[in-house]
Amino acid sequence: MKKNRFKLSDLKGFGQIAPYLKPHKWGFILGIILLSLSGVLTLMVTRLWGQLGGVGVLGESVSSSDSASSGFEAEILQNWNLNDLGTIGIAIAAVLIIQAVLSFIRVFLFADMTEKMMLSMRRDAFEAIVSMPMDFYHDNRVGDLNSRISADITAIQDTFTTTLAELIRQLIIVGGGVAALAYFSVELTLLMLFTLPVVIIVAIFFGKFIKRLSKETQDEIAASNVIVQEVLTGIVNVKAFANEWFERNRYTERVKSVRRLAMKGAMGRGAFASFIILFIFGAITLVMFKGAELMQQGELASEHFFTFLLMTGLVAGSIGGLAAEFGMVQKGLGAVESLMELLKEQREFNDFETEAKPLNLSQNLEFKAVDFHYEQRPDVPVLKNFNLSINEGEQVALVGPSGAGKSTVAALMLRFQNPVNGEIRIGDENVKELDLRSYRKGLAYVPQEVILFGEDIRTNIAYGKIDATDEEVKEAARRAYALEFIEEFPDGFETLVGERGIQLSGGQRQRIAIARAILRDPDILILDEATSALDSVSETEVQKALEELMKGRSTLVIAHRLSTIKKAHKIAVLREGTIVEEGTHDELMALQGAYFNQVKTQEITA
Ligand code: ADP
Repeated sequence: MKKNRFKLSDLKGFGQIAPYLKPHKWGFILGIILLSLSGVLTLMVTRLWGQLGGVGVLGESVSSSDSASSGFEAEILQNWNLNDLGTIGIAIAAVLIIQAVLSFIRVFLFADMTEKMMLSMRRDAFEAIVSMPMDFYHDNRVGDLNSRISADITAIQDTFTTTLAELIRQLIIVGGGVAALAYFSVELTLLMLFTLPVVIIVAIFFGKFIKRLSKETQDEIAASNVIVQEVLTGIVNVKAFANEWFERNRYTERVKSVRRLAMKGAMGRGAFASFIILFIFGAITLVMFKGAELMQQGELASEHFFTFLLMTGLVAGSIGGLAAEFGMVQKGLGAVESLMELLKEQREFNDFETEAKPLNLSQNLEFKAVDFHYEQRPDVPVLKNFNLSINEGEQVALVGPSGAGKSTVAALMLRFQNPVNGEIRIGDENVKELDLRSYRKGLAYVPQEVILFGEDIRTNIAYGKIDATDEEVKEAARRAYALEFIEEFPDGFETLVGERGIQLSGGQRQRIAIARAILRDPDILILDEATSALDSVSETEVQKALEELMKGRSTLVIAHRLSTIKKAHKIAVLREGTIVEEGTHDELMALQGAYFNQVKTQEITA
């Protein structure tokens, strides 16, 4: 009963991995055939060792004339003359050589298959983590996700390269071994088997225990890694607030519970090891005793007694190994499950084979009665009856206090989020109906905090158009007023930036981001103007670069600087998720309302 249930859950886990196994099914089948052969050869060697012992004791085997031996086996022994020590030696050597060759091929086959599977799995996991909707990245802390996926994939890899093969080999040895033992002496075999169910039942409980503990331990390790990652990312805060002790305590709590869980696992494993030693050695002693008795009574040939002893050891060892392998397989299956969970999550899109073609978005854009709240905080409305139109080729400046919902408007335009009510229209289409990636290809986004990839400047600019030529990149840099400073670096466009390279100033980073957007040549532009002050030279350069970028494109600019705002075709003032005023700078100043006050209190920088 129990054994069945255990097997069933195994199969379910493997079912999930079937799509990955399928392309390699022939290699897999061949591997299993080789494994089976190798298991059978192991049993043969054991039989030959037993023969060696029997012949050694008596000078010549008695099995051919012995009543305990069957005609079939006697015939084989006779034909191959396996009653002679030299011949037995040669036979053993031959079997061992064949087994060595088979094992090599088998290991190679399994590794080849597993590595190919791992390639697909790693790629699929990566596809999954880059194709989720934005909310996913808010929910899942990235460090946690990363460490979990790599741990899961390693566990799956172990399962397929070694654990599974070992499991199958040992199952064959146990099955074949028991059959062979029964052939030598039914009575002794029954005695041996009497001890088996106990080991198996304990193994099942142990497997479950290990599976649960290993998941808990992995969760704890992931949680502690998140702390390290957070601390390193926010090291400035940690140091500035002198909170090293606090972080250290937080981390210590986590690793303490890692230790607790790991020790619990170790205790379990220890208890299990003791149990196996006591039980298996006890069983072997019992069998030896009974066998010696049978031999004394002349009911068992001496070489059969030796074979029996060796094979019992082999079978018992394999049963002990089986339990551990089952535990490992369970761990692998846990990993498969958690990886499959990730792969099954709802994605933004699924097609990775084709690069999206940009849509023509040179039309009027309009937010119509949009209501919005974030999924994690449904009770906090962020946008309420939000209406805004951006005419084709015109610049609209969105202004308002922090927390009013400006970035959220940008997120909706980027379709990082979808309106809860209302719609965003482009021309006479609801943007929801447009292919997501083609839509995004038609726009460019310059964020407030520009994050560059740790590669060279050229690659960072070309991110806006992956297949851009050097000429195009250079021209974009020139138009973004970035060419001059880039060419001052000794390595020019090959200069590495970010962690491994030089640190660029805020203004330089922004101009790189602007060059990237210029290269993309979008119909719609979303700009989140930096609030942090730049030195006045950078300021004018960035300003000129922005103007160059915005020329003739429908633009939403989340604006903080009066110079940017004044040049916009329209200013929209956002308060608590609703547009409260709309017009040009002069109109709004004359109105003496929200905008007027914002300028007066210098919330908008001159
Ligand atoms: P602004 O850009 O004008 O400063 P935001 O659009 O960033 O304003 O934020 C508007 C409101 O939405 C704030 O109350 C903020 O706390 C909330 N908010 C922003 N992002 C999220 C998010 N990912 N999940 C939940 N609430 C958010």
